Order: sequence, then structure tokens, then C-alpha cells
Amino acid sequence: MRAAVTERVGSMNVVDRPDPPRPGPGEVLVAPEAVGICGSDYHFFAGELSATAGGGSGGSQFPRVQGHEVAGTITALGADCRAELELGQRVALWPLRACGHCYPCSVGRPNTCDNFELIGIHVDGGLQDLLCTGQDQVFPIGAADGAIAAMAEPVSVAVRAVRRARIESGERIVVLGAGPIGQCVALVARERQAEVLVIDLQPSRLQRSREFGAETLVWSNAEDVVRQARRWSGPGGPPVGVDATGAPAAVRAMIDLVASAGRAVQVGMSTSEVALRIGSLTEKELDLLGVSCCDADDFAEAVAVVERNGPAIRRLVSHEFSLAEAPGALRFAMSNPTEVMKVVIWNA
Ligand SMILES: [Zn+2]
Ligand SMILES: [Zn+2]
Repeated sequence: MRAAVTERVGSMNVVDRPDPPRPGPGEVLVAPEAVGICGSDYHFFAGELSATAGGGSGGSQFPRVQGHEVAGTITALGADCRAELELGQRVALWPLRACGHCYPCSVGRPNTCDNFELIGIHVDGGLQDLLCTGQDQVFPIGAADGAIAAMAEPVSVAVRAVRRARIESGERIVVLGAGPIGQCVALVARERQAEVLVIDLQPSRLQRSREFGAETLVWSNAEDVVRQARRWSGPGGPPVGVDATGAPAAVRAMIDLVASAGRAVQVGMSTSEVALRIGSLTEKELDLLGVSCCDADDFAEAVAVVERNGPAIRRLVSHEFSLAEAPGALRFAMSNPTEVMKVVIWNA
């Protein structure tokens, strides 16, 4: 079978590899159909994830087949898989496997497990013709095509963010960043009947947010954005701010614009540091909430969100490539951040 292997930092090649063995008990063999590429793939490819992600350590993560946003079809089932799984079924993969015995696992937060393994980061991912995974990581999905189904993973992060933020009907939510995750947060918050303002540097990205029923604001500078967001929400500021950029200026703006007693939710990944006025946390008594990947319940909800919103989610896919083109596709995405919304790689 073919596999796009990241051999080391900055180097991916499509090679031939032996097929995996037949799935064992509780395992499913999946033929990946479409794989989404995202910011964490760029970080992994650039060698910036090795030390910070849970699970594997340092350079031992290479060589690795990337791809954690995976839609595929079931080609073989091991013993002891749940009855709803069938051969030929289209599925989305929940990329997470947790250890079950560390502190986060013991308090029901497996998505922050100290020892977790993520498909495409700690174990081989979707950029290959066949992939064996645990039956509990395989979710049947009704979607018009594989590219839509592959969006279940980024949507699951948005579902997680909306759950962590405790977003309720009628609340005013400000989302900083109109990349795929910010767009999905806006979509899921709109489904919960929240009023959403999305802020981004790129006017073209904001057009897609308006299709979800969000209002939009072009980022000018932090001071102006804080003033305009608070004007939009009413004088006390919005009860929820979500940063989906990881950019220090946006994170700082989120803390400054959110209402007292509000929730500030960090979804954008970054290795950067940000200067905050400490008093903003104490005086406003903010809940500062981090969001990682999701748990199984969030993923099931994400599958339902995708099934309800297929056409809108399909429009987030801006560029499509074949598996043979995977190395070039990743480089293209990394070097054209303003043009690219979501790159999908087809295994066909
Ligand atoms: Zn992703
Ligand atoms: Zn654990």
C-alpha cells in the first residue's frame, strides 16, 4: 500500500509499505478516503509538536504517517467490535486513545491524558491506503462525500470549545480567528442559538462566517477591536470570548473584551507567550478555559453536527489534492495561510 511518510522534520515522501495485518479483537481496518490537513500538521511537520504533545517523546515520533482528520470506509472488522459497525460503511475517526489510569483520565478528561496517543501524531495516521485502529475510535457518519466526513475532527474541537464555554441560547459570543476551527466554533455556537461575532484579518474568510449567520469584524488593532466588540455586545462586554488564532495580540484582546464573570476560551495552539494584565483575571473573575482535542461524547456530537450541516461544511474545503501530491499539498498549505481554508487530501 501507499503511505505518505514524514521521515523527519520538513521531509515527507510517498512510499510503498506492507499492508497491515488483519485486525485483531476490537480493531477495525479502515481505508482512509479523505484526510484534512490542519495547523497541528504544520507544527508537527516543522518539528514544533514533538516536545509539547502528550504521548511520544521527541524525535522518536519520526518516521510517522500524518493525518488525524480522517474519513474512510471499513474494509475489515476484528472480533468483538460493536454491532453497528459494518463492512463498507463510511466512518470518521476519533483520533484519540487515552491510557485510562492517569489523573486526567481518572477525572473523566481523557482528551488531556498524560499518555494519550493521537492518530497521525503518536501513531500512524490517515495519509496511507489502510489504517488499523480501535473500534471505539470509529464513528459511522452520513455525509455526501469523504471531505465532509473528514471535517468531523475539526468540528469536534469546536464542539469541545462550545461545551467548555457553556454557551447558551441568546448569548453573545466573540470568536477571534476565522480559520477552520474558528468557523466551526461559529457554526456550533449558531446551532445553539448564540449570537456570534467573528473577527479576522482577512475579509475573504469572514464571508464564510456570514454564511453561518455570524456577524463579522475585520481585525484592525487590538484597542479598536476590543472597543468594537464591546459595542456589538453591549456595554459590559460579551460573556464569552474564544481565541482560535493563538496569536498573542488576539489572546490579549480576548481577555480585555470579555465581560466580567465571563469565560475566555483558548483554542488556538501556539508556542508563543503573551503579556496579560493580571488584574483582568482577578477584577473580572474570568474563567480562563483551555481546549484540547475532544472526548468520545464530543466526537459523536460532531458527527451529528456534520450530518446536519454538510453543504456549509463542504464550503470550508478550499483545496483538494491526491495522496501522491501530499508532500506538496502540505507545503502549499504552510506557505499560503491566507489563501487556504481547509486542505483535503484524497486517497483515491
Ligand atoms: Zn486538525
Ligand atoms: Zn490517561
